[in-house]
Amino acid sequence: MVGEIDLRSDTVTTPTEHMRDAMRNAIVGDDVMGEDPTVNRLEEIAASLFGKEAALFVGSGTMANQIAVLTFCSYGDQIIVHEQSHIYNLEVGGLASTCGVQTRAIPAPGGNYDLERLEREIYRADIQRAPTTLICLENTFDLNRGLVVHPLQTHSVAEIARKYEIKTHLDGARVLNAAVALKKPVSDLCCDVDSVALCLSKSLACPVGSLLMGSAEFINKAKRMRQRLGGGWRQAGILAAAGIVAFEEMIDRLADDHANARRLASGLLEQGFDIDLDQVQTNIVHIGLYTLNLDAMAFAKQIADFGIRVKVIGERELRMVAHKDISSEDVETVLTIIKNQLETRNS
Ligand SMILES: *Cc1c(COP(=O)(O)O)cnc(C)c1O
Repeated sequence: MVGEIDLRSDTVTTPTEHMRDAMRNAIVGDDVMGEDPTVNRLEEIAASLFGKEAALFVGSGTMANQIAVLTFCSYGDQIIVHEQSHIYNLEVGGLASTCGVQTRAIPAPGGNYDLERLEREIYRADIQRAPTTLICLENTFDLNRGLVVHPLQTHSVAEIARKYEIKTHLDGARVLNAAVALKKPVSDLCCDVDSVALCLSKSLACPVGSLLMGSAEFINKAKRMRQRLGGGWRQAGILAAAGIVAFEEMIDRLADDHANARRLASGLLEQGFDIDLDQVQTNIVHIGLYTLNLDAMAFAKQIADFGIRVKVIGERELRMVAHKDISSEDVETVLTIIKNQLETRNS
């Protein structure tokens, strides 16, 4: 019997001791008045790391995405999104209800738009058509796979957007994982987009928070949209302090998560699970149980009895996510337990 090994998501990560110390000691003020020095510092660090003029600290990735759309778009505009994206599928219809935009969701395998198709989907306003005003990207793409989108795709999409004088927003909840996987500065992955959102509360292990980056003008307006959504907060420096530690200490270690995910994937592949190693690019492993003919729910329950928690994403599909609270020893433990369970089943 082992302690719990929770592979459901990197959102389960808890703050480090350094974060807790920084939070305890943070100098704070009223952030709605722009007077929280720790928030201001976090926003400066983020803007500089991402190569943007300014940043805004917000409550969640969902809020960051919705604020970006509210800031760029007018009521009734059309925006283009990946049909499998988080912003389209997992934000409770916020694009329609909160932002009042019409979404045109198109396929983008691996997070890559077909550029000719994309261009055809852009509408100019006329007597019948709503104008397209924003194109959304996601990197890493697909929260059950964590695929790296190459900066060239982002560049090409942004080029098309500029041609039609429309904006681009990158949902970069895990874009630092993409940057570490590509061994490139994160600014290379977002230099072409008008805004980018980052989650601090996933693989970076902060308790709460996301950042939205863009031009100074964009962030000024975004701040008012955050306020409208009830997202203005006061002594938020308590939370921002953890974000500063994350930028200082938690980025380089993402490579360890990626190595753990690969080790997990190759071990499971050997055991007969359906895994495409080419798609294990960051910290997420997408696992098929088709060949083994296992029911995902039942299998998840079986290994949960041994303290291993995974996310069921389909009748015969699971996902496992490596993160800072999963050690390489944990990975070996997981592989051993699963191997034993499969053998028990076959005997
Ligand atoms: C997690 C996630 C979000 C939303 O972040 P929350 O902080 O959970 O609201 C948005 N986009 C992507 C791609 C994500 O993985």
